[in-house]
Amino acid sequence: MKKGLLFLLIIVLAVTMNVSAGGAGEKSDTPQRQFVTIGTGGVTGVYYPAGGAISKIVNKKYDEYNLKVTVESTGGSVFNVNAIMAGDLEFGMVQSDRQAQAWEGTADWADKGPQKDLRAVFSLHPESVTLMAAVDSGINTIEDLRGKIVNIGNPGSGNRGNAIDALENAGINWETDIQAEGLKASEAAKMLQDGRIDAYFYTVGHPSGSFKEATAGRRKVKFIPIENVDDLLAKYSYYAKSYIPAEYYPNAANTTDTNTYGVKATLCTSAKVSDDIVYAITKEVFENLEDFKALHPAFATLTKESMLEGLTAPIHDGAMRYYKEVGLK
Ligand code: GLU
Repeated sequence: MKKGLLFLLIIVLAVTMNVSAGGAGEKSDTPQRQFVTIGTGGVTGVYYPAGGAISKIVNKKYDEYNLKVTVESTGGSVFNVNAIMAGDLEFGMVQSDRQAQAWEGTADWADKGPQKDLRAVFSLHPESVTLMAAVDSGINTIEDLRGKIVNIGNPGSGNRGNAIDALENAGINWETDIQAEGLKASEAAKMLQDGRIDAYFYTVGHPSGSFKEATAGRRKVKFIPIENVDDLLAKYSYYAKSYIPAEYYPNAANTTDTNTYGVKATLCTSAKVSDDIVYAITKEVFENLEDFKALHPAFATLTKESMLEGLTAPIHDGAMRYYKEVGLK
């Protein structure tokens, strides 16, 4: 009995000592391993590979930072902001217009109010409000969408709000003048090919897997220009004119670039995420920008200066530490 007690005491002591020494044979000064997740979008968008590119660059330095970045496919910008604010995600890809609205407490955040803990890290590629229609649907302009079945996107997406703005700008009431669908962008290309919808909106960087998929099928499809947007651009400073390069989609019925307008993709986080983590991610992406740009053609035009544009929420202190260090701020 006595022997048994002594044995137990030795075990308890050994375990306690090991834990206080950092556990699992680690030195006591080794920082805790940290895991963070970036919320992205559908797998056929550009947010998903963008998150993958960030994680690839940062995870190379795992030994230095003890930081592992993982990526999650989500419903898009609105979902990501809300998940970051709820503490379910540390980072998220967010359209610049959604970032501004969340920070100000408008549009999807009108009821919840300003999202005071939202922080910007950097911006990435431009995203175009893209409208694609089946050639056999007879849609040649946005006005032709009247009476058609149109996917405007799932409620967590960033593109849904852009589709509604574009429709209203063209004098179309999305609730009464069209049959609006709320499908995820990742489902839209197939639905268009299957003849279940006539057209779909997607605010996304180019080239994107969604439009590659949509243009690869038997049903002929084409990009529809969204023009006469001067009023919209005057009203909302986050919108800028853009175009969809025809060269990315050789199977689309278009032979020239398609005019439209767009926003920027940004990386957001919460004020509650540690400065060291945000610093590490910012530093690794900026210091390895050429390698990063090679990971997706939508990043081709990125510059360090352009990556500080389109940020409405305050820049996170960890990112700001890096920008000050290198003289970008
Ligand atoms: N802009 C889209 C959204 O916020 C996502 C685009 C993408 O996944 O690349 O929902």
